[in-house]
Amino acid sequence: MEAIATDQRHHLGFKAYQPLSAEVLATYFQATIFTAETVPNTEPEQVKILCDSDNWSAGIIRKKNPLCIVHNSRHAPTRQESNLMHEFAHVILKHKMVGFDPKTGLPQRRPQDEDEAVYLGGCLQIPRRGLLWAVQKKMTVAQIALHFNASEEMVNFRINVSGIDIV
Ligand SMILES: [Zn+2]
Repeated sequence: MEAIATDQRHHLGFKAYQPLSAEVLATYFQATIFTAETVPNTEPEQVKILCDSDNWSAGIIRKKNPLCIVHNSRHAPTRQESNLMHEFAHVILKHKMVGFDPKTGLPQRRPQDEDEAVYLGGCLQIPRRGLLWAVQKKMTVAQIALHFNASEEMVNFRINVSGIDIV
């Protein structure tokens, strides 16, 4: 996953220590990003479910021509970034689109795909080498979060899974 993220960032001209925004990925994949309020061709009941719920992050509603992603604008901006990175991770990994759960009205998930996308999304936002760079600079978790436009929760997750010691 780390290597896939490195390739993707390299391809976009981003070094490991440079923050990569979801917007850059959206432009690269020619994706149209919607919120629950702006999502097209959706039943009003479905829109209401999405608008009122914190229990979903984002989902791919169309795979190509153009790629369309809906995301939850109720989440904090840093989390919205991670949520979108996560969806682009699904795209990069060529996961199948799963659509909405007919029962809950929220985006569906396939557990293995989710694990992979969580991991790759994190690598895209904060690559291991970028994390090492930040730690060498003696940046705090809060500073790293600010630098990569990520939540502190995401920074801690990346520190844990990357096996990096932070003092
Ligand atoms: Zn996912």
